[in-house]
Amino acid sequence: MKFGGTSVGKPERMNEISKLITKDEEPKIVVLSALSGSTNSLSEISSFLSKGDRTAAKQRIDTLEQHYQNFIIQLVKEEAFYNKAKTIIAEHFEFLNIILKISYSEALNKDILAQGELLSTKLFSVFLEEKKIDHALLPALDFMTIDYLGEPQVGSIKVKLTQILKKHKNARIFLTQGYICRNSKGEVDNLKRGGSDYTASLIAGAINASVCEIWTDIDGMHNNDPRIVEKTKPVGRLSFDEAAELAYFGAKILHPASIWPAQYFNFPVRLLNTMSPDSPGTLIVGDAGSVGVKAVAAKDFITAIKIKSSRMLLAYGFLRKIFEVFEKYQTAIDMVTTSEVAVSLTIDNDAYLPEIVKELELYGTVEVDNDQTIVSIVGNQITRTEDVLAKVFKTLSGVPVRMVSYGGSQHNISILVARDQKEKTLRLLNKGLFGM
Ligand code: ADP
Ligand code: ASP
Ligand code: MG
Repeated sequence: MKFGGTSVGKPERMNEISKLITKDEEPKIVVLSALSGSTNSLSEISSFLSKGDRTAAKQRIDTLEQHYQNFIIQLVKEEAFYNKAKTIIAEHFEFLNIILKISYSEALNKDILAQGELLSTKLFSVFLEEKKIDHALLPALDFMTIDYLGEPQVGSIKVKLTQILKKHKNARIFLTQGYICRNSKGEVDNLKRGGSDYTASLIAGAINASVCEIWTDIDGMHNNDPRIVEKTKPVGRLSFDEAAELAYFGAKILHPASIWPAQYFNFPVRLLNTMSPDSPGTLIVGDAGSVGVKAVAAKDFITAIKIKSSRMLLAYGFLRKIFEVFEKYQTAIDMVTTSEVAVSLTIDNDAYLPEIVKELELYGTVEVDNDQTIVSIVGNQITRTEDVLAKVFKTLSGVPVRMVSYGGSQHNISILVARDQKEKTLRLLNKGLFGM
């Protein structure tokens, strides 16, 4: 059971969680995110430090500390537990204050970002203790590891976690941190923003869990982005493929990589709402259940690159050369379209863009469009039902579409639009595809 930022963000929410995790006798691992807003604050502190602005960093640290001080006043009642919680806060903020004096590095940044999950789990543990709910707190840094490429070490996570669990034969509730891990150098690292979902599904795979429950602030995956479109509705069921595409293409409710462990180890994932625990939410399993469009999602900060060359005409090996440039700079390609004399593709990581463009220029003229958005229409066998594409184009007749990807899979049609067309595109699709 994973509880996200808003689900742990208030003392009364922690109380709700304590009820949810004790509803039945089944043994469970409870993964917690940081209190909502904490990781953002920690990231700001880190960013001030990286710019050498210690005054601003110190100010943010003090504000955050005050937030935690206020939090524990409402969280626990008895003095002994209050003092325990106070000591935990003192320990972590002493660390942040020491960091103010150390020179900034990427490793230090990761240490700073880890404080949120360390604090939330330790404070929740004190809360459970006061409520006399038996549990064991397992440090994620003892078993959650990534390799030198940043990929989780599934085999080793399983071995280590199994060993740790064996030491707590009588415990039924285990508590651990989402998001944080150790890297190949043994340093504290993380699974990227929103990574607690990924922690939960990796753990579920490692322990052969019967289900992975992602508890959040909304009643499951909606058919469209509720932050942008007014009327949306929950989707009852998704296949692993559909959920993975939605997560990858921008549905914030799930970390982009959080579905593959479920697909690989074949356990169901449930998206549930802490504020409305009886709502059915979304069930994610192997079989999609029904045919047709289920949801649309959008992914921002996309860069489109077009390489035009007459040498491509009737030539073979041209695409390989182009793709090799991206491979060299470890940059993933999301969408590709080709014509006789040009190839257009998109990337979401522009860290090596200047180097990539320079090398591509050896093969032809290169055009770059920044600030694009991929809008993905996801469902089951949607490229086999011919009217979906017709509906999409009819609906979007007033929107300039830069690229279309159709037929790559049966459950995704992706279109590329300028970022400033995103809201309009999502709203139009809500009408055209869902009649909402
Ligand atoms: P948590 O802190 O629990 O991990 P997140 O903020 O990461 O929660 O994810 C939940 C949020 O995802 C929702 O509040 C909602 O605004 C956003 N969201 C974006 N797209 C979707 C979607 N298609 N369905 C449901 N929620 C979505
Ligand atoms: N606290 C981390 C974040 O805000 C991880 C998570 O919430 O899943 O990104
Ligand atoms: Mg999240």
